[in-house]
Amino acid sequence: MSEAEEQHERPHFLVAKPAGQIPSKSSSVHLHYEDKEFRCNDCGKTEVWTAQEQQRCFEVEKRSYYTTATRCADCRRKRRQRESPPRGFDERLSREDASAIKKVVRSLPGIDPRIFSANLTDDGTVEVLCGGASIGDFLILKFDDPDWVLQSREPRLFS
Ligand SMILES: [Zn+2]
Repeated sequence: MSEAEEQHERPHFLVAKPAGQIPSKSSSVHLHYEDKEFRCNDCGKTEVWTAQEQQRCFEVEKRSYYTTATRCADCRRKRRQRESPPRGFDERLSREDASAIKKVVRSLPGIDPRIFSANLTDDGTVEVLCGGASIGDFLILKFDDPDWVLQSREPRLFS
């Protein structure tokens, strides 16, 4: 399919699913999504916030009702590259990697979701040190980069 055809295929209007959204304080939800032009806050370029992107934003990422597009794709990418990961995370991991790791850790049972450190190892896995179910309990979680699949989970023994 050519780019022009793809452009044509892409829906410019989508009916929303109110049940999939986080309603505003006054219980408002989006009833439909329509391609919307916006001006990038960083470079001033005009870009389209597509109906599909809006649907993902509100129904998959569950962002607030008031969320709007503020930056163009180029500036978002530049910003992501500039932002370093949070404290404790290996400098070579991006902020996006860090939030992906946090999300997986939060979803695991029997784990205190606070992460003390996340280090990229020589074999390309990421080792996460976090708290276990009880105080004084520490765990080492090993993740495969970049899918963040849990490979192993071992107690951290301090010698
Ligand atoms: Zn921009």
